[in-house]
Amino acid sequence: MSAQIIDGKAFAAKVRGQVAEHVTALKAEHGITPGLAVVLVGEDPASQVYVRSKGKMTNEVGMKSVEHKLDENTSEADLLAVIDQLNKDASIHGILVQLPLPKHLDEDLVINSIDPAKDVDGFHISNVGLLGTGQKSMVPCTPLGCLMMLRDHHGSLSGMNAVVIGRSNIVGKPMAQLLLGDSCTVTIAHSRTKDLPEVVGRADIVVAAVGRPEMVPGDWIKKGATVIDVGINRIERDGKNKLVGDVDFASCSEVAGAITPVPGGVGPMTIACLLANTVTACCRANGLAEPE
Ligand code: NDP
Repeated sequence: MSAQIIDGKAFAAKVRGQVAEHVTALKAEHGITPGLAVVLVGEDPASQVYVRSKGKMTNEVGMKSVEHKLDENTSEADLLAVIDQLNKDASIHGILVQLPLPKHLDEDLVINSIDPAKDVDGFHISNVGLLGTGQKSMVPCTPLGCLMMLRDHHGSLSGMNAVVIGRSNIVGKPMAQLLLGDSCTVTIAHSRTKDLPEVVGRADIVVAAVGRPEMVPGDWIKKGATVIDVGINRIERDGKNKLVGDVDFASCSEVAGAITPVPGGVGPMTIACLLANTVTACCRANGLAEPE
């Protein structure tokens, strides 16, 4: 293996440490405790795991954590009423509705009912528009975590060729906006892209957010490129359950200059950025200087 491993787990621990310091200062100097509310509808096992670990880490950094667990059959009106109550609650600075929602609920309507200033996931249409026009916004946590790791590794990203594979609203598109904001030349690839290996082969930075286990092989990667693997795929191999990314780690790490592992790369950074966004939202709500 020649690639440097970008240790998302260690980086995330550092970010959470900084968040905890800000929380301590907000309490001591201003008597304010940042609060994060997570709303979970239904019994999706993966969502339950995410919500549990978000609550645990929110408490660990000293913030107030509130969980609203609603029945699978909750009506849209009841869910919107919960969000309305959280929007009005001055002790809550961040609201996250765990996705996916059960089919009978309109995800766009629900997300857009969150106060944009408390939308710590950055999915509200106002935040999407602000990010797209380079204005101050709430930035989606997963792409923000990827950007932080890239900046940490490279310093400036200016002029680099970046290829984002995937064009979802939660990862691919905001990732491309962030890289553009850092002056990369950005290509967004997707399922209709022609000659994906050739497109990926031009990239100094590859961000894979596809949801297909080990889809990107090492021979697509330009020597020395940085590979950020967003994918989280559960597969069975040799009779065991395994978590793998969207890139084939074994072959890509032979060619890449740096690579994030799965697990231990992008995943831990996502929750760390959620906590950081909550502190940012809290500072903005109280007219205080934001953490950098
Ligand atoms: P989506 O399913 O919403 O989007 C997948 C994207 O991949 C689509 O744009 C799709 O193209 C594209 N795609 C599918 N097949 C191909 C192909 N053969 N070649 C090129 N592009 C293809 O997924 P998400 O963006 O929500 O998530 C992507 C991955 O990231 C998943 O594994 C998910 O689990 C993981 N994830 C990880 C997070 C973390 O914290 N680490 C957070 C969020 C997601 P098209 O639009 O044309 O259909």
